[in-house]
Amino acid sequence: MTEGSPIPLPLAWSDKAKRTKDSPISFLIAEAMRNPSLVNFAAGLVDPWSLPVEECLEITRRILSDVDRGRRALQYDTTLGLNDLRRQCLKHLASLEETPVEKLGYGPDEIVVTTGSQQALYLIGDILVNPGDIVIAANPSYFVYTGTLQSLGAHVMAVPMDQHGMDVDAVAKLLEKLDRSGEISRLKLIYCTSFYQNPTGLTLSADRRPRLLELVKKYSRTHRILLMEDAAYRELRYDGPVERSIKSYDTTNQFVASSYTFSKPFAPGIKLGYTVMPKDLAHAVIAQKGNHDFGSSSLNMHIAAEALADGSYLKHAEVLRGVYRRKRDLVLAALKKYFGRGGDGAGSPSDDLPDAEHPIHWTHTHGGLYVWLTLPPSIDTSRTGPLFGAAVDAGVIYVPGEYAFQPDEDGHVPQNHLRICYGSVHPDQIEPGIAKFSAVVKKLLAK
Ligand code: PMP
Repeated sequence: MTEGSPIPLPLAWSDKAKRTKDSPISFLIAEAMRNPSLVNFAAGLVDPWSLPVEECLEITRRILSDVDRGRRALQYDTTLGLNDLRRQCLKHLASLEETPVEKLGYGPDEIVVTTGSQQALYLIGDILVNPGDIVIAANPSYFVYTGTLQSLGAHVMAVPMDQHGMDVDAVAKLLEKLDRSGEISRLKLIYCTSFYQNPTGLTLSADRRPRLLELVKKYSRTHRILLMEDAAYRELRYDGPVERSIKSYDTTNQFVASSYTFSKPFAPGIKLGYTVMPKDLAHAVIAQKGNHDFGSSSLNMHIAAEALADGSYLKHAEVLRGVYRRKRDLVLAALKKYFGRGGDGAGSPSDDLPDAEHPIHWTHTHGGLYVWLTLPPSIDTSRTGPLFGAAVDAGVIYVPGEYAFQPDEDGHVPQNHLRICYGSVHPDQIEPGIAKFSAVVKKLLAK
């Protein structure tokens, strides 16, 4: 570049940087910032009013008022993560699985603490996936992770979902096909959010859990295929059956990595997650994590360990379950009120994903932060479609289903779906928000 030249030379982006796309929801964040009065069913944020400010203040005071401990909390810790935290996580997992610690099949050294569970998802993808390798994921799936996989050059192959979660028969068929074609050698990972999935809110049913693991074992011939179980929403259960993790069936700790987070049941601001994984994978993850950040924030790890130890974590998770259960109920009641059978022929609520008879559906979720809404096929929910702009004009914002959650070119989320997140919406805004939204839909349907 000559001095003063108005056009700089391009930077020579790496292949990975070229494959990395902007967040598919950045336009939503911009829209919400432009218009803070919107009822924001789009943001995947947690309830702002119940964040554990007092608890964190008290815990931090306790940590820092003990000088030795304070110094440790303000020093670097290991890349694997604070010992005490990993032990607390182990105990916590044993209580979630309703089993003694000794029977879990793994120990504290197979738990890696990460900077959010997102970091574990990223690192595991990075460790296993070369460009062109195959990853199987549900359609729809958590878009941040499918975006990550795409940036790694993965060929993400989608399988459908139904009301029982990821369709394991479809996984079996796909595995058989990949086996026949020889492409199974390129399959590295199956990604499954097993509890209250983002974006559908649906949970993998009890019978599908061991079946999915058996499939992974069956097709792990030349190498182990890793089942990446994302359990971010596990602790936000409001009703419905209590499920074991898929990990709990992996008694030799070889085939499943299960990621958990402090973001949803406690506070995203401490940005910590922990993942149980096979020992060889833990070793590789620590090596990679060393290159990323040496280790997660010591102070935050001390806060998380203390919150688990003194019971404030459990107490807070219980408070959150109450808060979100109420919001979930308000969303479902408002959907029923404004889209329910009889009102305008718009359809009826259903536990199922779409069927032809009922043009408007939503998932009756038992936990998590999301409801997946299916509108009649004539309604395009995408950013450029008529609904999105009209909803924004009416004061409501949502995440278009097709735009954000379609995991790959092969998969297809029709354009009539959308995600409602009630995490950060005030309870008083839920019914008015759904009322405004339904008016927009009905107006479009009447055209
Ligand atoms: N998994 C899923 C399914 C998520 O929805 C999220 C965040 N929304 C994450 C993982 C990552 O969360 P965090 O990094 O805060 O743990």
